[in-house]
Amino acid sequence: MRAFLGLGSNLGDRALYLKEAISALESPTIKILATSRIYETEPWGVMDQPQYWNQVIEIETLFEPLDLLHVCQEIEHRLGRERKVHWGSRTIDIDILIYDNRVSESEELTLPHPYLEERAFVLAPLREIAPTLVLPSGRAIQVVSGEGKVFPLS
Ligand code: AMP
Repeated sequence: MRAFLGLGSNLGDRALYLKEAISALESPTIKILATSRIYETEPWGVMDQPQYWNQVIEIETLFEPLDLLHVCQEIEHRLGRERKVHWGSRTIDIDILIYDNRVSESEELTLPHPYLEERAFVLAPLREIAPTLVLPSGRAIQVVSGEGKVFPLS
C-alpha cells in the first residue's frame, strides 16, 4: 500500500536525524518512493524552541497501518535514546499522514492524520512530492496551504 509519512526534528543535527530515520525505514517491507526537500518551519504551539526541519516521504509498504506505526515508533525510540544522551529531549517525530484511503479513529492511530490539512509544514512538502493529490476532505492539495511559515532549505 502507498502511504505518506511526515518527519520532523528540532534538536541536534536535524539533517542527520531526518536522514537516519529515512534509512532506518527503508527495508524489504518499506520502499521509499519519493522524498521531499527539507523545510525549515516555525515551531507549532510552544514558540520558545528551535526551528523544526520537516520532510514528507511517500512509501510503498506491506505493513498494515498499526504495524507501520510501531515501526515508526521503534525508530523514534532508537534515535531518541541516542539523542537523550546528547540532548536530553526528542529529536525525531514520525507521523503517518495518509495510508492508502484508510480511515482509523482508534485510540492509538488516527488516519488520516488529524492535522494533515491544517499545517503548512505538512502540506508544503506533501504538495512538492504529490502535486495532484486530492486530500481526504476532497480538496486539491494545490488549494490548501495550512497555517505556519515554512521555508524550503534548497
Ligand atoms: P506525537 O509523537 O506527539 O506525534 O504523538 C504520538 C502519539 O500519537 C502516539 O501515541 C500515537 O499512537 C498517536 N497517533 C495517532 N495517530 C497517529 C498517526 N497517524 N501517526 C502517528 N502517531 C499517531
